[in-house]
Parts: sequence; structure tokens; C-alpha cells
Amino acid sequence: MDIPKTDRVSTAIKTADEAQAFDETVRIAGTVDDSIVDGPGIRFTIFAQGCKRKCPGCHNPQSHDFSAGTDVTIEQLWQRIAANPLLSGITFSGGEPFEQAAGLTALAQRARDVGLSVWAYSGYFYDELIVGIPSPEATRLLELCDVLVDGAYIQDQRSLELKWRGSTNQRVIDVAASWKLGFVVELAQ
Ligand code: SF4
Repeated sequence: MDIPKTDRVSTAIKTADEAQAFDETVRIAGTVDDSIVDGPGIRFTIFAQGCKRKCPGCHNPQSHDFSAGTDVTIEQLWQRIAANPLLSGITFSGGEPFEQAAGLTALAQRARDVGLSVWAYSGYFYDELIVGIPSPEATRLLELCDVLVDGAYIQDQRSLELKWRGSTNQRVIDVAASWKLGFVVELAQ
């Protein structure tokens, strides 16, 4: 559902809890305002800073160091998202977004509230995130995602034929269906 820019901004009446959450910062490696490769449609992609895995061949090695990158508030990110009426959704990528799940949860909730879809890429597996690894907030962020692309990139399994993922081990998961059924349901592609 496409919600016009003005409507997206007008939904920005915050509860006290949400106002506090929007003042929190997350550390990011960067953003792409209008990505067409991180899920369907035009998406605002946020690259979280910090990842423990350091997979060989990772496309974003500059995002591995937890002390690098830039601190931004959730409010700053939201204002940029709300300003683009052409967006279909937002995507969390990395680095490892689920290491900063507490901060990103408020952004995911707001995106959903205005009809934007939420995708996330993670080196963690769905089965880990759903049981609170690496944190209880990670489970909450997972619940707010429409789609999770899970598992770390494996260079030996790289394929250019794949949609939305880099290596064949990664799964493009329908989170709502998986949550409801209790097992992983991959998105039909
Ligand atoms: S999990 Fe993702 S961001 Fe982290 S090193 Fe592997 S490919 Fe890079």
C-alpha cells in the first residue's frame, strides 16, 4: 500500500515511549535512499555498522568494525524515509542489524504503521533470532519483519542467478507464515 508523503508524516504523533525510542541512536555504515536490489520496489536501505562474522567475500567489509560508522537517531532516519513518497519499504542490511535490534525496532514499527514493508538481512538464522539470539530485542525486530534473508554469505556458494540473496545457503523467509506455522516458510520467487 502506497501512503502519500503527507499522510506518512501526519502519522508521526508519538507516544512517550516512541518519542524516547526515536531519540535513541544506532550506528550505521550508510544508507541508500532508493535501492532496487534489497527487496521489491524502491526501498530505503540502512546498513548497520558492526558484524562479528567477517565472511570472506563480504560486499561490505567496511561495516564489520563496531567502532566505525556514524551515529544517527531513529528520528533522523525516519524523516528521510517519510520524505520519499515512492518507497515501498525499508530494508535493514549490514553489518548485522540484529546486533542493534533495540534501536531499529521503533523504526520498523513506524514503517509498518504507515504501510511500508520491512525486510532484513542477517548472518543469524531465523531459528536463532526467534529464540532471542543475540538478544530478546532481536526476536521483537524479527516479528516486525515481512521478510528475513538469513544466514551469512558463503563465498563458495555464490551465485549471480539468485534473487535477493548472494549465496545459495541463504533463505528468503516469509516471516509471518513461518511465525504462524512454527517452521521456516521460504518466499516463493
Ligand atoms: S554476515 Fe553479512 S555483513 Fe556480516 S560479514 Fe557476513 S556477509 Fe558481511
